[in-house]
Amino acid sequence: MNLILMGLPGAGKGTQAEKIVEKYGIPHISTGDMFRAAIKDGTELGLKAKSFMDQGHLVPDEVTIGIVRERLAKDDCQNGFLLDGFPRTVAQAEALEETLKLMNRKLDFVLNIHVDQQLLIDRLTGRRICKECGATYHLIFNPPAEEGICSKCGGELYQRADDNEETVANRLEVNIKQTQPLLDFYNNLGYVKTIEGDQEISKVFVDIDNLLKELV
Ligand code: AMP
Repeated sequence: MNLILMGLPGAGKGTQAEKIVEKYGIPHISTGDMFRAAIKDGTELGLKAKSFMDQGHLVPDEVTIGIVRERLAKDDCQNGFLLDGFPRTVAQAEALEETLKLMNRKLDFVLNIHVDQQLLIDRLTGRRICKECGATYHLIFNPPAEEGICSKCGGELYQRADDNEETVANRLEVNIKQTQPLLDFYNNLGYVKTIEGDQEISKVFVDIDNLLKELV
């Protein structure tokens, strides 16, 4: 099964990726993870990617497309793959189509986990951290016993500057602008399957699994 996973920050993409990979045994190919690993290992690729990533820019298409091509040619991708964080541009999507065609393969689904924007803002701004011991809480998913106070050490809880509503809303806007052309591209090809992400984690996976079962 040849899959792309899409979804805005906070939509639960990482959690669902883990579940898909575990059940179906296909490799999880995250270009962000590949770049971070290359930086850590100090490789040539890492050097190329670092300056772009540090500035919050996309790594140039020719570099990114190159590493994905190499990765897809590896043996463990024979039965499929789950791409995450790639493609990010229409040029990357076009290059992927071309690469798959050369391999006599095609995409099965672009899984798009959809969560209402305001709900994402609530999810992403809910994180609180203890000033004393660094324990993390979430106002919705993991609230402290007493508001504003760490349940472990009694320290004061604070919100990280980049978790505030304005920054988060801005980050989502940037992401929406980036992903819309890709969704249009894949909608035209008929690959997009939208999954409602505002459900319990296990229910989101049931919806995904019902689609994937058709492929095996
Ligand atoms: P991520 O972990 O997916 O958020 O990616 C972290 C960073 O890696 C991004 O901000 C980009 O700088 C870079 N990156 C990851 N995937 C891509 C991609 N498909 N195209 C260009 N840059 C990417």
